[in-house]
Amino acid sequence: MLSFTTLHHLYVHIPFCHRICPYCSFHKHTPGGADMNAFVDALLMEVEKHALAPRTIFFGGGTPTMLSDTHLERLLDGLRQRMDMSQVVEFTLEANPRTVTASKAAVMRRHGVTRVSLGIQSWDETALKTLGRDHSPPEAEETWQVLRDAGFPSLSLDLMFSVPGQTLESWRRTLEKSLELRPDHLSAYNLNYEEDTDFFRRLKTGEFQTDPETDAQLFEMAIDMLEARGFEHYEISNYALPGHRSTHNEAYWFGADYLGIGPGAFSTMAGCRWKNIADTPRYISMTLSGQDTVVEREELTEEQRLTERFGLELRTARGLPLDLVAPRASRLLDTLSVQGLVEYDSRFVRLTRQGKLLADPVAVALLTSA
Ligand code: SF4
Repeated sequence: MLSFTTLHHLYVHIPFCHRICPYCSFHKHTPGGADMNAFVDALLMEVEKHALAPRTIFFGGGTPTMLSDTHLERLLDGLRQRMDMSQVVEFTLEANPRTVTASKAAVMRRHGVTRVSLGIQSWDETALKTLGRDHSPPEAEETWQVLRDAGFPSLSLDLMFSVPGQTLESWRRTLEKSLELRPDHLSAYNLNYEEDTDFFRRLKTGEFQTDPETDAQLFEMAIDMLEARGFEHYEISNYALPGHRSTHNEAYWFGADYLGIGPGAFSTMAGCRWKNIADTPRYISMTLSGQDTVVEREELTEEQRLTERFGLELRTARGLPLDLVAPRASRLLDTLSVQGLVEYDSRFVRLTRQGKLLADPVAVALLTSA
């Protein structure tokens, strides 16, 4: 009999998307002629190597709901046969509008998915067009209703602000429309111009401009509107009703070990980080022929771990443990506190609302003082 190892957090990468959004830097591509049966076989083979008993599972991408009902069913069923699922407390699947039917939602529910994160980004047609999204607001709403009807215990909406051309009014309408749908959780990401994306090139040529003042107003509008409706701002880009925080994402932010499977997926365990090959056909053929798909592997240095902790934990409502910062930064802490950027008690340092607007520079200042 197999003996399972409790690995707390499992990530599964599904790299397929209908269309490629011009701001996206994840490992993703259109399905092309990909052999989906072989892809599912490869994921299952990779999982089988580990004999896992995870607490959280997260299917991200890409667009996991691009898999057909049949392929998704095979994958979810196959996972159940190869892992001990008895300890799973949260099972999230990322979805995009137009890729979820009632029958697919039923497959997900039947196989234990507890949480769906729907990437709608905006309810504004113009913003959706700028973002290169391939769905309309009515299609997003229809998908939301399908997910609600399927009875998932926790549903999240993914939104984006600081989209070129976006006004305060358009963002307000997007937040209002989102709240009307009564999500349990909301993610609101500030658009990032990642290198190697079309948006980055357009920023560099001057077609797009950034405006930190407007970004701050958009960010604060989200905090005001969502907190007024009972959402806890538990991480800079994330808001949850009581009991609906993402346990899986909190695990990343607080430095827990996780295993990533699939093309381009990262894993971090026992101070070592590795990455699978970000080439789907090669990932499939290498896995199925028993070859190692890991292409990068590094031991994290103490400095890297500390940098990550400062960068991630300071963004959370809990904050960064004071014993990481003090005593060498006590004068800086006082200065930042007088400036209204941080507050701290005997255990944790937290960003104030003003500090959240300057999260990265504050983290760097604290790190270089510690
Ligand atoms: S749907 Fe998501 S993963 Fe796919 S290209 Fe767009 S942003 Fe990237």
